[in-house]
Amino acid sequence: MAILRTSAQTGIGMTSQRTRDRMLVRLREQGIKDEVVLSAISAIPRHIFVDEALSIRAYEDVSLPIGFGQTISQPYIVGRMSEILRNNNPLNKVLEIGTGCGYQTAVLSKLAKEVYSVERIRPLVMKARGHLRELKCVNVKLGHADGNMGLKDLAPFDGIIVTAAASHIPQDLLDQLTIGGRLVIPVGTDEQILYLVERVSELEYRQTKLEAVKFVPLLGGLL
Ligand code: SAH
Repeated sequence: MAILRTSAQTGIGMTSQRTRDRMLVRLREQGIKDEVVLSAISAIPRHIFVDEALSIRAYEDVSLPIGFGQTISQPYIVGRMSEILRNNNPLNKVLEIGTGCGYQTAVLSKLAKEVYSVERIRPLVMKARGHLRELKCVNVKLGHADGNMGLKDLAPFDGIIVTAAASHIPQDLLDQLTIGGRLVIPVGTDEQILYLVERVSELEYRQTKLEAVKFVPLLGGLL
């Protein structure tokens, strides 16, 4: 006798194109306007980044656990930060601090020529590497490193995105922006605010306070 598995068991249905399309409708309703960002999000299957048991929730607008006390970012925030970073211009070289499972990294791979991403928890680097290989994101390089210092050897970057909440804006990251480059970073502990910092000239930066957000903390050291 054949055993039929329900769609909830296999994940089929909840990860279907229709479910994914609904997420895109929701992102538009939430104010994400950049069509390049929206099509990048639409091209990346979010369910492959979470454990199978959670895949039925992969297209909800929530952050979900990925192990080691960390989370995969909420689709809205991935859209919002990508849109701010891109500013309607193609990106050349981008640095992400806090790879996690690699979801934001995969979205960035559709928006920039080269993407570098660092993560302090080694097993997450391995996990992300597997996901990005599966999706053939060949323009991405991952590193096991403390992102507080940025990546000096590969600087400058025209975009730096920090996906964990910092207590302050690290000077090293400011130094590693091109003139005209943009840093998007959540800052704060209990209450966190998303900031955009633009490098206007060699020594001049413009800082804009954007909106309240909720991220895991940016920590120091390697695990
Ligand atoms: N970009 C991820 C978000 C992951 S959560 C996504 O798309 O879902 C934030 C990640 O930042 C965690 O995995 C955490 O381990 C990592 N992190 C925290 N402090 C860090 C640091 N100093 N350097 C590198 N990664 C850090």
